[in-house]
Order: sequence, then C-alpha cells, then structure tokens
Amino acid sequence: MKEYAETRKHMVERQLAARGIRDRRVLRVMEEVPRHLFVDKNSLGGAYDDNPLPIGSGQTISQPYMVAIMTELLELKGHEKVLEIGTGSGYQTAILAGLCHWVFTIERIRSLSQRAEITLSQFGCQNITFVVGDGSAGWPSEAPFDGIIVTAGSPKIPEILLDQLIEGGRLIIPVGDRFAQTLNRATKIEGGITIERHTPCRFVDLLGEHGWSKT
Ligand code: SAM
Repeated sequence: MKEYAETRKHMVERQLAARGIRDRRVLRVMEEVPRHLFVDKNSLGGAYDDNPLPIGSGQTISQPYMVAIMTELLELKGHEKVLEIGTGSGYQTAILAGLCHWVFTIERIRSLSQRAEITLSQFGCQNITFVVGDGSAGWPSEAPFDGIIVTAGSPKIPEILLDQLIEGGRLIIPVGDRFAQTLNRATKIEGGITIERHTPCRFVDLLGEHGWSKT
C-alpha cells in the first residue's frame, strides 16, 4: 500500500480537500485505497490524475473528485448498508467498503464485475456482495438501503430506487441527457422525497429498464 503513497497524498490535498471535500473519513480512505490497482496497465502513469480513465468495454473509472463528492453526499458513519449501481473497476466500491458496514454492488458487464471482484479480494475487502445484472431496478431482495449510489448517468430518478431507501436514506445519482448531467441527491424524509442538485458532471449511460435504452 506504500507504493504511490506520496502521489495519493497529493491527489487528496490538491484535487479533493482544495476543492471542498471536508469529510475526514472520505479523505482518509481515498488516501489509503491504491487507485493504480483499478486502472488498466497502460493507464498506470495517470492513475492519480484529475480525470476519468478507460477500463475496457467502453466504460470508465470515475474522476477521483467525483468519487469523493458522491461518497461525501452519502454521509456515511460506518453502520450503513449501501447499494452501488455500476461496479465498473471496483474503485468506488473499495472506497464505500472502507466507510460502511456492507456494500451490495451491481454491474451489467460480467467481465468488469469479475475483474473488480478479483482486484478487491487482493486487499482483503470482505464486506461486499457482487452481482451481474440490470441495476437500474435496484436490488429489491436486499432492500431497504441506507444509501444508494448510481455511478452512471440517468434520464431521471428511477422511482423504483427511491422505494428501496430507508427513512432518512440517500440516493446519489447523475441526472440529465446523454452528454451532461447534474449530480442529484434525493433524501427520503417522513416518506416524502427531497431533492438537491449539486455539481455538473458527465457519466457513461445507465443502460437498462429504468435508465436509457441500448439504442
Ligand atoms: N464506479 C466505477 C469505478 O469506480 O470504476 C465507475 C463506473 S462507470 C462510470 C459506470 C458503470 O456502470 C459501467 O461499468 C457500466 O457498465 C455500469 N452500468 C451502466 N448501466 C448499468 C446498469 N443498468 N446496471 C449495472 N451497471 C450499469
């Protein structure tokens, strides 16, 4: 874990803390998790740069700042059960696993899910359940969740995901068209939903029954 430790420290100071990420637990975990293990070999040199990177199958590992702000918006304390939709490389999954009780993560592309599971097993994360499938419908059999994080862009907030939140639970999701979205946080309060709009962002498509169609 010492490899790239100095580079990670710089990433946290310059890309995260300097831009307003304040949650100390988020900053600590992002300083610890070896992001270079989650990127393709030919992207190794840029593993801690301020941008997303390709991970194969037309998908990306998200920019570190985006991972940090989405995680911070969940306001995790350590006891939570979190659903992640879009496992991708497994990097965001690793960050969540260091901050909550259990992570359920869904990915629609089998090869990515399998690779993420192998990467995460290398450093002993044991509080994660992986599944391959359409996460736009959530994971009803494991609901309700304290937090749901969608790491792909959606045309709308799927009602079916709101139904899977506990009272006080939070859903973090990029919402917009296929080229530009805004990070939304939906919180369930007394059965109703409060929506806040945060930073502009650009994610790959959430493809599936409650997201974008494949065509
Ligand atoms: N959080 C990831 C990381 O740290 O590497 C980045 C995820 S990438 C931006 C978005 C992922 O969402 C892709 O791997 C994509 O295949 C996946 N995805 C898109 N639609 C999905 C769906 N309906 N269900 C599950 N995964 C989906």
